[in-house]
Amino acid sequence: MPASLNRVKRRTKIIATIGPACDDDATLKGMIDAGMDVARINMSHGSIEEGLERFHNIRRLSEECGRHVGILVDLPGPKVRCATFGDESVRLQSGSVVELRVGNDTSTADVIEVNYDTLVADVQVGDRLNMGDGRAILEITEKNPDKLLATIVHGGKVSGRPGMHVPSDRLRINTPTPEDLEILDAFVEVGVDMVALSFVRSAHEIRRVGTEPHPRGPLIVAKIETRAAVENLEGIIEASGAVMVARGDLGNELSLEELPILQKEIISKCIALGRPAITATQMLESMIDAPAPTRAEASDVANAVWDGSSVVMLSGETAVGADPINVVRTMGRIARRADEEFDHEGWAHRIADLRMTAAGAGSSSAITDAMTMAAWRAASELGVQTIVAVSGTGFTVRSMARFRPEANILGFSADPRTVKQLALSWGTVPVSLSGQANSNEEMAVEAVAVAKALGHVSAGETVAVLAGANATSQSANVLRLVKVS
Ligand code: PEP
Repeated sequence: MPASLNRVKRRTKIIATIGPACDDDATLKGMIDAGMDVARINMSHGSIEEGLERFHNIRRLSEECGRHVGILVDLPGPKVRCATFGDESVRLQSGSVVELRVGNDTSTADVIEVNYDTLVADVQVGDRLNMGDGRAILEITEKNPDKLLATIVHGGKVSGRPGMHVPSDRLRINTPTPEDLEILDAFVEVGVDMVALSFVRSAHEIRRVGTEPHPRGPLIVAKIETRAAVENLEGIIEASGAVMVARGDLGNELSLEELPILQKEIISKCIALGRPAITATQMLESMIDAPAPTRAEASDVANAVWDGSSVVMLSGETAVGADPINVVRTMGRIARRADEEFDHEGWAHRIADLRMTAAGAGSSSAITDAMTMAAWRAASELGVQTIVAVSGTGFTVRSMARFRPEANILGFSADPRTVKQLALSWGTVPVSLSGQANSNEEMAVEAVAVAKALGHVSAGETVAVLAGANATSQSANVLRLVKVS
C-alpha cells in the first residue's frame, strides 16, 4: 500500500511544537515520519534568528521526506514572563511571601522579576496571578511604588522562564505588539504558511495584523485565551482563518470547570463557520518525562476529536520532552483510533443544521456552502470513497471538511502556500496542482490523474470532484461524479 494511503487513515491533524528537544535533523525527520502535519514555532522563546533557522530546517526536511508539512509561527503577544529561575526547578512554598518587581535578569523563591513594565501600576491588591500554566498561584497583598508583595496560595515547582498570567482586562498592551509585528515581517518575508495571534480580544486586533489578506498572506490563527475573546467569539472566528482553543491561558482567565464547556462551544462555532479548530495544551503533558500518557490524557485527545477538533496540538511534549518522536506517534495512534469511531453520519446531519453562512444566497461563500453539502450527500448516498476538492484559497476544502465525510478528501491547489495550509484541514490530504488547466473539465482530469498516480484512487472507482467552473472562479460551483479510467 502506498505511504499516502496509510496516512489517510488518521483524519485528525497533529501540530507539534519545535524546541530544543527536537532541533536535530534526525528527530525532526522522525516526527515528520511519525505524522506531524504542522510544525509550530513558538516565538515566546528564542530569537527571530533561531526561529528562522527552525523554519528553514523544517522546510528542507519536509521536502526531503516528500511531505507537505505546514509551518505555524506563534506570535508571543503581550505574554508576561518571569525572569529565569535557572536550569534547576525552584519550589515556591505555599503560605510564603514573595516580592514581584519589573525586571528581566533572575528570579528566586523570594524575589520574582517580571518582564511587564507597568506591572506594579496595573495589578491590584486581591488579584490572583498564575505561574507556569497553574504550577503556582499567588495573591497580591500589598502594592508599593516599585514592587508588589504576594502570598503563594498554592505552591509548586517552577523552572526556566514561566509565564505569569496577568488577567487580560488588567493588561494595557494590545495584540499584535510591536515585537509581534517585527517577528511577523521576518516570517512573511520567507513565506510562512500560518501565523497564530496570542491574547486576541477582538476581531479588530486580527485586522491589525496588516499582512496581505489570505491567501496572498499567511492564514491567521486566532488563539482564544482571554475572557474578551470568548465574549467576541463569532466576530473573531469570522475574521480569522482558523482558531486555537488555547487552554493554558484560557484556564488562567476563567474557572477551570468552564474549560470543557468552552472547548465544545468554540469548536462548534468554528464548525458552523467552516474554520478549523485546534485543541491545544497539556494534551499529553505527562509525556514530557514519561514514555506513555496518563489514561486521562488519552481520553482528552479522543474527546477533542469527537468534539470536532480538526487538529490536536503538542507543546512542551515535543519542544522540551524526553522523546518527541514517541509523543507524535502516540498522539497519532490515539487520534486515529478515535477517528475510526467517529460518527460521520450523525455529525453531517448535525452540521446541516449548524451551518452559518454570513453572506446571502448567490455569494461565493453561500455557493461553496451549498455545493460542499451536495458533495457530502452525493458521496454518502453513492458510497464514493474519495472527494477531490480543487481550491485556490483552501476555503472549499475547509468547507468540505466540516461535514467530516467518511470519504477521503483530497485537497488540491495550484498555490503552494494553500497546499501547506491544508495540512491543518481535517481528513484532507494536501496535493499540488500544476495550475495549467483552464476549464473545469481540464482541472478535474488533471486532479484525478494526479490522485491516481499518487495511489489515492484506482481505475474503475467513482470519485466526486468539486471545483470552480474555470481557473478564475470565485467559488467551487461544479460537482462532477467521475469514473477513474
Ligand atoms: C495556551 O495558552 O494554551 C497556548 C497554546 O499558548 P502558549 O503556548 O503561547 O502559552
